Amino acid sequence: MQFDYLIVGSGITGATLARLFTDNGYKVLILERRNHLGGNVHDRVHESGIRIHTYGPHYFRTSSEKIWTFVNRFVSFYPYKAQVKTLVDGQIENWPVTSSYIKKVVPGPWQPGFKGTPTNFEEASLALMPPPVYHKFVKGYTEKQWGLPAHKLSPNLVKRFDVREDDNPYLTPHHKYQGLPVDGYTSLMANLLAGIPVHLKFDYLENREVFTPARKTFFTGPIDEYFNFELGRLGYRSQQREHIYLPDVEYFQPYGQINNPNPTTDKFIRTLEWKHLMQPELARQARGTLITRETPITPTNPQHYEYPFPDEENDRLYRRYLEKAYNHSNVVFCGRLGEYRYFDMDQAIGRAMALAHKEINSHSYLYS
Ligand SMILES: Cc1cc2nc3c(=O)[nH]c(=O)nc-3n(C[C@H](O)[C@H](O)[C@H](O)COP(=O)(O)OP(=O)(O)OC[C@H]3O[C@@H](n4cnc5c(N)ncnc54)[C@H](O)[C@@H]3O)c2cc1C
Repeated sequence: MQFDYLIVGSGITGATLARLFTDNGYKVLILERRNHLGGNVHDRVHESGIRIHTYGPHYFRTSSEKIWTFVNRFVSFYPYKAQVKTLVDGQIENWPVTSSYIKKVVPGPWQPGFKGTPTNFEEASLALMPPPVYHKFVKGYTEKQWGLPAHKLSPNLVKRFDVREDDNPYLTPHHKYQGLPVDGYTSLMANLLAGIPVHLKFDYLENREVFTPARKTFFTGPIDEYFNFELGRLGYRSQQREHIYLPDVEYFQPYGQINNPNPTTDKFIRTLEWKHLMQPELARQARGTLITRETPITPTNPQHYEYPFPDEENDRLYRRYLEKAYNHSNVVFCGRLGEYRYFDMDQAIGRAMALAHKEINSHSYLYS
């Protein structure tokens, strides 16, 4: 079979690249080692009629007109704005922290717990809030999530939250478009890849010589695994997921996601109740309810990698792999595993669009 591009991985990065190359007249082959399309955005419907996201809750949000138009080409979305709550002192509180919660804990004027330029996550968080709030909301959760003391983590991690001056309860209120795909992410991915050949259950790294593209390979798997971990393993965190079906319970909790930052009680970090993410008329038809408890783990199997580790040691190691990658000019390492970077779905799509554009333009320049 003759084709221009080999794409390793059918996640949102690989699928976007494949679609754009195909739309521009190139032939593409996708190899996927899992038994399903879609990478980590995969979802499925439980026998109760409840849709569950296989690799943790995925809330779609973007402010980019271009990305929103792109995804709406393949499925329509129903409005869904995620609200994440956190259990503190037995009460359900908003996440991220709100001003009114801070006033409740520290009445009167308050001082942040750190001043100056933060050098680690603990300092960066304390720069935003008084110490008692940091200790109740952030420290336990973060240390559970990463399995390390907060002062060992990168200050950049703090960019993923803020303090809500206006008490806005939504997780990402600033995004213009927010929703979930009607018929799920699995149908989004199937439509995105319609007409494009995909070999499932095919591990490229175990069969590197079988398919050779006329132009390039876009590799969206883990960069350290590609190089046989020669320089050592990049760190990742993942979640172990325990699904509990409660056939006689209509709703288990009042929100879709409730975090559990307390390090001394249960090990699990959050509880998800999937019915809250569904369209109300479908949720009403579901039988019982389905919850998932997530407990952070350090995975050793690359197929279970979820979050790249936010510290300097891993950043240095990733840069050394990147130097090796420069000598492989026919392979582009991309996506959350190839670039060892957390991307939201819209960011992954935007990045894939930019890479496809660059690649396609490089030919038009050469042959025009
Ligand atoms: C727990 C969790 C929750 C998230 N929640 C959100 C959210 O709410 N909103 C949001 O916007 N984003 C969210 N994300 C981010 C989202 O999952 C990513 O943006 C998206 O998965 C990136 O897609 P990708 O294609 O780069 O990687 P992936 O989805 O990981 O796809 C890579 C694919 O490559 C395949 N592969 C790897 N190696 C090989 C090989 N050797 N041979 C063949 N195939 C291979 C893998 O099997 C996989 O299917 C979340 C991420 C996690 C981990």
